[in-house]
Amino acid sequence: MIPLHALSLDELAEWFVAHDEKPFRAKQIFQWIYEKKISDWEKMTDLNKGLRQKLSEAFTLTTLIQTRVQHSKDHDTTKFLWQLPDQKLVESVLICSGDRRTVCVSSQVGCPARCAFCASGKEGLIRNLTPAEIFEQVYQIDQWLAEKGERVSHIVFMGMGEPFENYDAVLSSIRLLIDPLRLNISQRRITVSTVGVVPGIRRLMDEGLKVNLVLSLHAPNQQIRKKIIPYARKYELEDILSAMLEYGQKTHRDITYEYTLIQGINDRKEHAEELCRLLKRQQCTVNLIPYNPVPGLRLSRPDKDKIETFKQILTDAGIVTTWRYTKGKDIAAACGQLALQEAKPLNLVNA
Ligand code: SF4
Repeated sequence: MIPLHALSLDELAEWFVAHDEKPFRAKQIFQWIYEKKISDWEKMTDLNKGLRQKLSEAFTLTTLIQTRVQHSKDHDTTKFLWQLPDQKLVESVLICSGDRRTVCVSSQVGCPARCAFCASGKEGLIRNLTPAEIFEQVYQIDQWLAEKGERVSHIVFMGMGEPFENYDAVLSSIRLLIDPLRLNISQRRITVSTVGVVPGIRRLMDEGLKVNLVLSLHAPNQQIRKKIIPYARKYELEDILSAMLEYGQKTHRDITYEYTLIQGINDRKEHAEELCRLLKRQQCTVNLIPYNPVPGLRLSRPDKDKIETFKQILTDAGIVTTWRYTKGKDIAAACGQLALQEAKPLNLVNA
């Protein structure tokens, strides 16, 4: 069966023509799915029964099954667990802050980068997600929000996976997300986060898109970086930083570096000073993220004073520095806490 989300309006219209149906039906279907947020053929009441049957045999409207929804105590963060058609599981997180409704999506099951502080990369890569599987995480959350009169406003590719190791699917999903006939999300409200896959950064800058790019830097030099991100061995830090700089110049988007502070590894004064030297020629923002605990990992976060000192050194050097308040820690939905999970018999929605 064909995942309907992956088809363009023209491709769907061609399907109708090939099946002796009127092509205008394609527009009708798009309106049901993307305007009225209906993903049940039986509810598409202006299609006759025979056609609904034909469509349900040819297309799938839902490839992800929502198996669990967890809310943080402050109700600002909601974690969704999805079961994929092959029983694998992935997670997405909805973060509500003021008017913003940001969805953090996964692009792979597992992750090849194996960052030392991250639950998602512990087992390495299991498989890539398809464009429809990535898009549908946002679509289903948008449907969920629509019941409360809200909608998704921002998207960050910061869930499970390294987006540039699944480049084609991630790019197709971005094109689906920004499609005015579908979710119509502004490109400027989409952020892709990478550990530094240089060919991916270079390809994205030539796509003619205006999406934001974030580098998970996490260290002031290649030696420490290799310890934190084993995958970092693949590309020299110098090459990554010059690709980031070029991305900013070509797309006129701001460049952001994320730096997870881990006690005793990358949180000393000297590290902050070295980071200032490394980024001195860049117009950028550094987001400091104190490490979020992951069961089974013997790492800890620095204390508040140490984080303040680190931030101050960067700020004094003229680098715009933020210290990200971490949401969703109590439901393991914070940065680096999304874990690979085993498929179990479905015990639907424990909201
Ligand atoms: S932090 Fe991101 S890139 Fe690193 S292992 Fe986790 S999911 Fe992969």
